[in-house]
Amino acid sequence: MTPPAISPAADPPPPLVERLAVVRDRIAQASAKAGRDPAEVRLVGVTKTHPVATLSAALAAGISDLGENRVEEFVRKAAAVSGARWHFVGQLQSRKANQLVGLRHPDGTLLDLLIHAVDRISLIDRLQRLAAREDVVQRVLIEVNVGDDPRKGGCSVHEVEPLVAYAADRPNIAVQGLMTIPPRTPEGADPVEAARPHFARLRALRDRCQPQWPAVRELSMGMTADLEAAVEQGATMVRVGTALFGPRRTPRRPGGATPGGETL
Ligand SMILES: *Cc1c(COP(=O)(O)O)cnc(C)c1O
Repeated sequence: MTPPAISPAADPPPPLVERLAVVRDRIAQASAKAGRDPAEVRLVGVTKTHPVATLSAALAAGISDLGENRVEEFVRKAAAVSGARWHFVGQLQSRKANQLVGLRHPDGTLLDLLIHAVDRISLIDRLQRLAAREDVVQRVLIEVNVGDDPRKGGCSVHEVEPLVAYAADRPNIAVQGLMTIPPRTPEGADPVEAARPHFARLRALRDRCQPQWPAVRELSMGMTADLEAAVEQGATMVRVGTALFGPRRTPRRPGGATPGGETL
């Protein structure tokens, strides 16, 4: 039996395994250019707005790190999916932090969760109190607004060392590195080249922390549009949504928020 002819317009999107191969190849190419081992770059699949089935498919395809950016959505999905290393990549309101710290699987084991966007003393205080109460150590990254973009979260470059020092002094907080989202690419500019100096700045900040706080190793930087620049500048984690899972499910909201509600 001959298969029915398929018109180009009806072509389904490439399956996840193909998209994953493309992303891994992009990471490999950029690593080669920088003389890095691609195994040093952890791929975090950002699944915000996508259904639980997408998360299960990602895990089955070998994406073992999953990222979400909204507390309620994350908690719901984390309860439905097992075997992931989790990344909370969104802005975290202090009053919601209690929903994340000490989160456990039904069998009582602790969720493996890294919180990427810690950017202020009050949030560190809150996380410390919650983690102490739960008798856990919460792993965090300090988010840095390297481009001084008023629409973005993150501390200023001048606050990095004081915040790292403060977090490093809290017994129930483990600060493992830095994270950034570069400013929006100017109209007509190449996103990779536009992001490059911002990623270089994050790396320099990390390098400056290293002698005093060797645990501050991770560089969470690079998304669909600019991951090459991030990998070339030393990213140890890239956070990729669209290139893996396609367009997000929620419509653009008025007021400039982008699909999925990332922090811009
Ligand atoms: C949504 C999001 C991503 C993924 O963005 P893509 O451009 O779809 O790859 C990465 N990081 C953060 C913090 C996000 O909110």
